Amino acid sequence: MDKEYVGFAALPSQLHRKSVKKGFDFTLMVAGESGLGKSTLINSLFLTDLYKDRLIPDASARLSQTLTIERRGVEIEEEGIKVKLTLVDTPGFGDAVDNGDWLRPLDVAFLRAVHEKVNIVPVIGKADALTPKETQILKQKIREQLEEQEINIYQFPDCDSDEDEDFKKQDAEMKESIPFAVIGSSTVVRDGATRPVRGRLYPWGAAEVENPYHCDFLNLRRMLVQTHLQDLKEVTHDLLYEGYRARCLQSLARPGARERASRSKLSRQSATEIPLPMLPLADTEKLIREKDEELRRMQEMLEKMQAQMQQSQGEQSDVL
Ligand code: GDP
Repeated sequence: MDKEYVGFAALPSQLHRKSVKKGFDFTLMVAGESGLGKSTLINSLFLTDLYKDRLIPDASARLSQTLTIERRGVEIEEEGIKVKLTLVDTPGFGDAVDNGDWLRPLDVAFLRAVHEKVNIVPVIGKADALTPKETQILKQKIREQLEEQEINIYQFPDCDSDEDEDFKKQDAEMKESIPFAVIGSSTVVRDGATRPVRGRLYPWGAAEVENPYHCDFLNLRRMLVQTHLQDLKEVTHDLLYEGYRARCLQSLARPGARERASRSKLSRQSATEIPLPMLPLADTEKLIREKDEELRRMQEMLEKMQAQMQQSQGEQSDVL
């Protein structure tokens, strides 16, 4: 009789074939005020023209713009592997709020609302407007403000000690680049006699998107679609979602004592060790109600932000 064959050995290639056939999902939300360069960055990152039908609003349209969330799907394919991306653009977010600090109150409120639920990767747009020194100062300031405001951003995993030196160097450089200062452009330019490059042409030369001396675009793209794609998905699933689920269950087990266990207290190692109380099945409905309640609170928060924006727009037009 032939030796029995369970088929475990073929699993990795089966999974690979499945990914090749079906692709896998990756959701990216780009948040920031309109005009900051989000759509151009998305186009540059994924070589797509997702927003080609979008009309560029004039100043008055921008002032009356409300907080709407646009969701677009795009499928990219590289070397036979399909990746389905969902890009969520939040036009108008934080617009017209007059505040000189970098992190505006609305930005802080928004980051606070999402930092326990998603991986935050901070990005500085239009980096061609800053000198290298200004970029370094701004990066430092943003890092300090995020820490002061206790906003948790995506923590890069430690590099394996057996990785080769080049990889370790690249990894360290990537971590030091945060927040990534990027330049976006949907066009290819020629700077003098040099090769065509994706960039922005000025009378004094070209600001190149994919030139590591000009900006951190390559590091951001490498991190998002190559080196850290899997880790981002795992952190979302194992740490963020499990943390959220544990908090829901804890609040059900001890009503009133809604323990907001901060994500900073959860380590990658402890993520799977969160004690989950056993619940009778009947409590499922309660859990659903809790989730609905949480969604309602988020909706309320968005409405408040919208009202705040409208108020500040009103104040601005009083001055004009
Ligand atoms: P969004 O509203 O945030 O999606 O911004 P857009 O991508 O529509 O860009 C708004 C304007 O900024 C457009 O005129 C872009 O050409 C320009 N822009 C986009 N990225 C950059 C950049 O990296 N540097 C500079 N200087 N301008 C940019």
